[in-house]
Amino acid sequence: MSGNMPNNHVRKTLRAQAFSRQDGRCHYCKVRMWLHCPEELGLPLNRAAKLRCTAEHLQALCDGGQDHPDNIVAACLRCNEMRHRMHPAPDPVRYGKHVQRLQRAKQWHRQYILAAGLLPASEVSHPR
Ligand SMILES: [Zn+2]
Repeated sequence: MSGNMPNNHVRKTLRAQAFSRQDGRCHYCKVRMWLHCPEELGLPLNRAAKLRCTAEHLQALCDGGQDHPDNIVAACLRCNEMRHRMHPAPDPVRYGKHVQRLQRAKQWHRQYILAAGLLPASEVSHPR
C-alpha cells in the first residue's frame, strides 16, 4: 500500500464518486441506494439497511485489485455481502446476471423494497 491518505478515506471518496456516476443506483441490482443516511430514500433504517451504498471492488483486494476508480463500483450492501459470501466470489459480470435473474423473479430484495419504487420501472413488473 502506498500513498499518504488512509485507505478508508480514499475508499470513501471513490465510493461517493461511483455513487454519483451510477446515478445512485447499485451496479448489480440497480436499486436506489443511500450514501449518508437512509432518510435519503424515505425509509426507516431497519428497512433500508441493505440499501446502504458500499464500495465494491470488481477485482477483490486479495486478488490484487486496487483502490482505483476503474476497480470500484457502488453496490448496495446486499449485493456486496452476497457476492463475497460465495466461494469463490463470482466475477462481476456473472454475478450481475445472477442478481438480475433473481431480481426479475422478485427474489432478491424484500417485498417492501420493491414496493417502495426503488427499482427502475423496467426492472419490475407492475405491482398492483
Ligand atoms: Zn444491489
